[in-house]
Amino acid sequence: MEIFKTSSDMRAWSDAMHRRGETISFVPTMGYLHEGHLSLMEQGINLCSSLVVSIFVNPTQFGANEDLDGYPTNIKRDIQLIESKGARVLFLPDRKEMYPENYQTYINLEHLPKHLCGLSRPVHFRGVATIVAKLFNIIKPDAAIFGAKDFQQLQVIRQLNRDLNFNINIIGAPIVREHDGLAMSSRNSYLKPEERESALSLSKSCIKAKEMVQSGEKDANAIKGEIKSFIESFPHTKIDYISICKPETLNEVAEIKGEVLFALAVQVGKARLIDNILI
Ligand code: AMP
Repeated sequence: MEIFKTSSDMRAWSDAMHRRGETISFVPTMGYLHEGHLSLMEQGINLCSSLVVSIFVNPTQFGANEDLDGYPTNIKRDIQLIESKGARVLFLPDRKEMYPENYQTYINLEHLPKHLCGLSRPVHFRGVATIVAKLFNIIKPDAAIFGAKDFQQLQVIRQLNRDLNFNINIIGAPIVREHDGLAMSSRNSYLKPEERESALSLSKSCIKAKEMVQSGEKDANAIKGEIKSFIESFPHTKIDYISICKPETLNEVAEIKGEVLFALAVQVGKARLIDNILI
């Protein structure tokens, strides 16, 4: 596996691949890999002739009071894992490479960031859209795989891909969970043993919401109220949002008809956790 640290080396490799008629799949990550990331790589390997993985902890998607400086990292282990999945290239730029002095250009979406995580993380999706567009321009993938765990991010990327004519095949991959249902996340490493049970309140809420809908409840506020009390019954939890919305627009719904997204974000100790389910 090759490791490129500069955009020019990465781009030269991709251009050479495309000249040879090869196709490239791409999995962007912030590292500290787990089975969720690896499942995206498995999909990528099957989609195209070569897989490129990137690791870059993107500073522009972190707010001033968020965990940029403490974000977990283990590059040595990550490299072994990525290699074991059969990737051809790891793109591993540093911050200066992606945001050199006098960097000025950012991408803002009009509507999707005004919901869910965007409300409490106002700069987050601007940072995500910007870095993903840059990575798409450097790597020029034919397909890119993103996890449905970050459902809003996946919708933002789909929109970006359409609006800016990247013409990349964007694949959404299912949420990978621990045995007990907790959605895998690099941030789960922040959880103290006594917070672990509380962290399960998110996945349990997803199941509970689905069961309520399946048993005929159509009032979104009734479901949100019940879930709110349920989560608050766990110690160490602070709800950021509980949403029932249209999957495409992320607009909240009052009455449940057709497919809806149930999504939530809860602070559990130091970890801000998210989860969702399509119902
Ligand atoms: P991150 O390193 O957290 O930026 O995530 C990189 C990619 O992995 C994103 O597309 C995430 O949605 C995806 N991902 C993270 N956790 C999971 C999970 N538990 N299941 C599936 N995909 C995931």
